[in-house]
Amino acid sequence: MQQLTELVARARADADGVGTANPRVIPIRPALPLTASEEEVARILQICNACRYCEGFCAVFPAMTRRLEFGKADTHYLANLCHNCGACLHACQYAPPHEFAVNVPRAMAQVRMQTYQDYAWPPALGALYGRAGLTVALALAGGLALFLVLVVALSGSLLHAPLAGNFYAIFPHNFLAGVFGAVFLFIVFALGMGLRRFWRELSPASEGQPANGAAAEATRDVLRLKYLDGGHGEGCNEEDDRFTLWRRRFHHFTFYGFMLCFASTSVATLYHYLLGLQAPYALTSLPVLLGTAGGIGLVIGPLGLLWMNLRRDPAHGDTAQRPMDRGFIALLLLTSVTGLALLAWRDTRFMALLLAVHLGVVMALFLTLPYGKFAHGIFRSAALLKFAIEKRLPNRMQLDAD
Ligand code: SF4
Ligand code: SF4
Repeated sequence: MQQLTELVARARADADGVGTANPRVIPIRPALPLTASEEEVARILQICNACRYCEGFCAVFPAMTRRLEFGKADTHYLANLCHNCGACLHACQYAPPHEFAVNVPRAMAQVRMQTYQDYAWPPALGALYGRAGLTVALALAGGLALFLVLVVALSGSLLHAPLAGNFYAIFPHNFLAGVFGAVFLFIVFALGMGLRRFWRELSPASEGQPANGAAAEATRDVLRLKYLDGGHGEGCNEEDDRFTLWRRRFHHFTFYGFMLCFASTSVATLYHYLLGLQAPYALTSLPVLLGTAGGIGLVIGPLGLLWMNLRRDPAHGDTAQRPMDRGFIALLLLTSVTGLALLAWRDTRFMALLLAVHLGVVMALFLTLPYGKFAHGIFRSAALLKFAIEKRLPNRMQLDAD
């Protein structure tokens, strides 16, 4: 422990002698008591700040070097900046079994989970993050699908003469638009409120936020998943100290698949309300082409991520959160598989059955979006924006080159 004390003392001594010439200092906010997981991040970052071996790996380390103390907001920011690539764990000379027991990805993952819960809206539903596991996800999807199947069966149209893919003969358009539209608005509002509170804690107005080019840079980093390249371009660590770019690729399949499905629904909505073109649309129409491409991406991406999640080194991240990861992956996969099946068999007597199952799964996915793994994309994007802004501020420590 004496080594640890010396490392931390060295970091403080280094910092005491720098930065004083620069008048633009990020203000120190009143210290709030830290939770155990925040304390652990703060402890580890004090060691990393003295060591700095991993400075080139990702955005966390350059952001860390701008700080001497790690308060609540700093741990929340840095935890969400971490992409859990595992590189700094495999590179670390102070990782377990060393007595310093430095495990950055695990400590960061635990604080990340806490931030999702702390900033959830409404706050009472924050506890759902801890419960949105695989079993709950499957039970919710199964329960909602079964409910809708029963509704259709009771109306006497479960198996029917082919309807040329006319979904609205089973569930009226206004009913679907009303129910899913209301849930969608709730998701946007709930995530927006959480994000607002997170951003306010990260970036008090007093710090100033020059946005010159920062938003564009953050958007690029999000769209490219820049920090899943391990800092050297060879990718993340998964099962061991070998690098792989597959986690980044499967994330891209998932993200762009999701966005294409969203684009498909948006185009179909414009067709309906602006052009007066009613579904079903031809297989060669834009909404169907976008939805098919998105659905295929949402099969490949989640399957790959699930495969990697099952094989991942347990020292990476927080294994207690894996049920949440798998629950989200399973719902994405079920959404795409049931959606593609519905498209393939939409002109058969099984359309109503497939439609009921697909809508049940989509509703389960929607309901869990604000209280499950989906949140990581929102909070990480905000942290990347904060990083891009912070880079444009003078560095009070004058130690890193950014
Ligand atoms: S993770 Fe380990 S090697 Fe990397 S900066 Fe921190 S203490 Fe140093
Ligand atoms: S796990 Fe990867 S992203 Fe997270 S701090 Fe370490 S190097 Fe950075």
